Amino acid sequence: MNRKDMLNKLQEPEKVWDMVVVGGGATGLGVAVDAATRGYSVVLLEMADFAKSTSSRSTKLVHGGVRYLQKGDVALVLEALRERGRMKANAPHLVKDQAFVISNYTYWDNFLYFCGLTLYDLLSFGFGYGRSRFISPKKVMEYLPTSVKKGLKGGIVYHDGQFDDSRMAINLAQTSADNGGVILNKAKVSGIVHDQNGKVAGVKFVDMESGKEMQLKAKSVINACGILVDDLMAMDSPGHSKMVTPSQGVHLVLDIKFLQSDY
Ligand SMILES: Cc1cc2nc3c(=O)[nH]c(=O)nc-3n(C[C@H](O)[C@H](O)[C@H](O)COP(=O)(O)OP(=O)(O)OC[C@H]3O[C@@H](n4cnc5c(N)ncnc54)[C@H](O)[C@@H]3O)c2cc1C
Repeated sequence: MNRKDMLNKLQEPEKVWDMVVVGGGATGLGVAVDAATRGYSVVLLEMADFAKSTSSRSTKLVHGGVRYLQKGDVALVLEALRERGRMKANAPHLVKDQAFVISNYTYWDNFLYFCGLTLYDLLSFGFGYGRSRFISPKKVMEYLPTSVKKGLKGGIVYHDGQFDDSRMAINLAQTSADNGGVILNKAKVSGIVHDQNGKVAGVKFVDMESGKEMQLKAKSVINACGILVDDLMAMDSPGHSKMVTPSQGVHLVLDIKFLQSDY
């Protein structure tokens, strides 16, 4: 991927692209792969760098939505488990199995988590990362030696995935480019272009390297701006009321001596 070559591909002002994707995080890059591999002409514009925002700051888990099972949203869990399986099949160099131990201090929790996580395994229909199993209190202490021993009734080992989020993003960018997608970083969308009927017909963007403003015509514009989704909406319809309230997650990084385990 060469930025100059990508920029050169955008020098035909009259060309009408099938799709312009705004935002080079996981969502936008995924759309750009999907579009390019289906034969659509697609341009992705990212104002900073690929995965600069939330998509390089996740907890790095490829989860099948285990917490949605508790809420009874089986359809969502099925979809997430299938996606989890595809990520491992398509990017085995970036996705690996991660085993977790849930340590339980009541017999009811042993029963509840064993049943729930076994259902989680069954729903993965051959896309599983490994079977869940019950383990004794002694095994819990072996697997997680710094656990609180008093009152421990057992534990459940279950599996999900772990991945390198920013490398995944770069690989998606490369895959889209290999399939004809034009993927440009340091390109900030500054306005939406409309046709005579007021329909979205393209975008204006600023090449952040040269400061030059350019325009692209497109049949569709995809808003994949993450937490800035409303800013792009406001460019299309001033007075747009906000859909998203940004929130922030916090990761605590602990020394290995705290857990002394790979679980
Ligand atoms: C604390 C935390 C932990 C998480 N952990 C996990 C996890 O373990 N596993 C998991 O699967 N998911 C996790 N997620 C969710 C996941 O990280 C997000 O769903 C995902 O990264 C969102 O990607 P995105 O592409 O929608 O947004 P973003 O990554 O925010 O990308 C949007 C991009 O749009 C660009 N942009 C904005 N405006 C413009 C403009 N005008 N012109 C050009 N570009 C523009 C931005 O620069 C940005 O790069 C976590 C999220 C958080 C907050």
